[in-house]
Amino acid sequence: MKNEGIEGTERFLSPGKGRGLRAVRHFSVGELVFACPAYSYVLTVNERGAHCEHCFTRRDDLFKCGKCKQAYYCNVDCQRGDWSMHKPECLAMCAYGENWCPSETVRLVARIIMKQKVTTERTPSERLLLLREFEAHLDKMDSEKDELNQADLAALHHFYSKHISNIPDEQSLTELFAQVNCNGFTIEDEELSHLGSAVFPDVALMNHSCNPNVIVTYKGTVAEVRAVQEINPGDEIFDSYIDLLYPTEDRKERLLDSYFFTCQCTECTTKSKDKAKMEIRKLSSPPEPGEIQSMVRYAKNVIEEFRRAKHYKTPSELLEMCELSQEKMGAIFADTNVYMLHMMYQAMGVCLYMQDWDGAMSYGEKIIQPYSVHYPAYSLNVASMYLKLGRLYLGLERKTQGVKALKKALAIMEVTHGKDHHYVAEVKREIEDQK
Ligand SMILES: [Zn+2]
Ligand SMILES: [Zn+2]
Ligand SMILES: [Zn+2]
Repeated sequence: MKNEGIEGTERFLSPGKGRGLRAVRHFSVGELVFACPAYSYVLTVNERGAHCEHCFTRRDDLFKCGKCKQAYYCNVDCQRGDWSMHKPECLAMCAYGENWCPSETVRLVARIIMKQKVTTERTPSERLLLLREFEAHLDKMDSEKDELNQADLAALHHFYSKHISNIPDEQSLTELFAQVNCNGFTIEDEELSHLGSAVFPDVALMNHSCNPNVIVTYKGTVAEVRAVQEINPGDEIFDSYIDLLYPTEDRKERLLDSYFFTCQCTECTTKSKDKAKMEIRKLSSPPEPGEIQSMVRYAKNVIEEFRRAKHYKTPSELLEMCELSQEKMGAIFADTNVYMLHMMYQAMGVCLYMQDWDGAMSYGEKIIQPYSVHYPAYSLNVASMYLKLGRLYLGLERKTQGVKALKKALAIMEVTHGKDHHYVAEVKREIEDQK
């Protein structure tokens, strides 16, 4: 394939940001700017059996790979289409049995290596940016990141060296892992459940803004980029790399740590949403600045502690952690404070996992209004929250509230996903079924 670019856009040098993507024509809100098929992708282990490994279609009549009995497909075509990518993993899973446990990044990198072997030309995923042009930021890696990188490298050799010939040398692999860490994407469904990991070189060309003018959604394993603000010729096109719930200081920290740059977008300069995000409870005697600071420190610690605890604590222990931390933070923070919301969101997730629908619903009801204030106008976080809430209401026979919430989700998704997306059709059907 020769380089034909992407119609309506161009690659350019963005002042202070390096390369970026710029519009050369006008795009209206909801318009598709471009689509990009995944260069490589991998379905997450937890979704095996629920989604096709090849096309990511969600259905309940998939059939499994006869050899490993772990990978599932729509039909023979999907299985054949996936075989070159699945083969090394299939053999490794058969050989290692229960001891097969590479991380998702390792699995993705193995697939990238396989793809690179059979690719000689520019792929349709690389119309403006080649995978090998990805930034690695190797010079900015600290010892902690270096250790993680080396562990991934060792795991790749351990699980795949017998099944992939000519694995690149150590230096190339170190670079490849770093490139994937800075430029990789996670694919999520309409409720933001994690489905897998992928690389989309052209999508990775976009720089970040905390007030983005496009949003990335997925149709199977294809990324779609849609305008969520009016974009004029000459405007730079920005997506967001991170969850935008948090205040400026937290976002900057996250961007610097994961992507090695200091964000200077309008949101980061004006900090216009920080006050609402950090809302303090109305008390007869307002808290001292020191008390607020120490509560913010506590909140950040508990968020980190909870993230780790998810891997080993029981659901009821996790729920208790959520409740205790909310009680403690609630002495100073308002219920609309993002740290309170973070723990409520986690609690809602645990309730959903435990099939405690009433519990999940009451957390969802507390979260949804402040979410709509803190996030930008068109947000996948807000849409997915309306969707979860609407589905919970309908499951609990609260028809009017259910339909109302689903309509709110739909209004956002028609812009972020496009009117013809299968997720949009599904939500429309759910609303229709209530008539
Ligand atoms: Zn399929
Ligand atoms: Zn298999
Ligand atoms: Zn920013």
